[in-house]
Amino acid sequence: MRRAVFLDRDGVLNRERGEHTWELEQFEILPGVPEALRVLQEKGRALVVITNQSGIGSGLYGHDDVERVHGYLRRMLADHGVQLTDVYYCPHHPDNGKCLCRKPGSLLLEKAMARYGIDAGGSVMIGDRDRDVEAARSVGVRGIRVESNEPLLPLVLNRTILG
Ligand SMILES: [Mg+2]
Ligand SMILES: [Zn+2]
Repeated sequence: MRRAVFLDRDGVLNRERGEHTWELEQFEILPGVPEALRVLQEKGRALVVITNQSGIGSGLYGHDDVERVHGYLRRMLADHGVQLTDVYYCPHHPDNGKCLCRKPGSLLLEKAMARYGIDAGGSVMIGDRDRDVEAARSVGVRGIRVESNEPLLPLVLNRTILG
């Protein structure tokens, strides 16, 4: 089984702006992120993004907007030699009823673990909200809470993530 690093998106990979991010001009990949992910990839970790995108459910933006941003993220990382294993997002808004995929729900982590044969106990989830950590813990994945927009590379280099 593979070990994975599950990654929240906004505030971990790209700058958390304090509002929804769905246009390329708003999507700023944080410094050191490609380098950090490459280290994790070289350690054999699957790299899986798990993100809540309730702006779809509220009608603020569409699936195509999210796919465009994720396509850009994948290409930008690929330019640095990093292949994201997969990107999962919850499109639902809680006002329209509870779903199982919106973090702190764990459905998207469970899907990824099943599809890619990921060992929960050997994996971590990095997020800037309590709900990221809660989603991970509920399926036996270690959750690491970081500050929004905190540099990722030091966490990787001091082995907080790999430990
Ligand atoms: Mg976040
Ligand atoms: Zn959902």
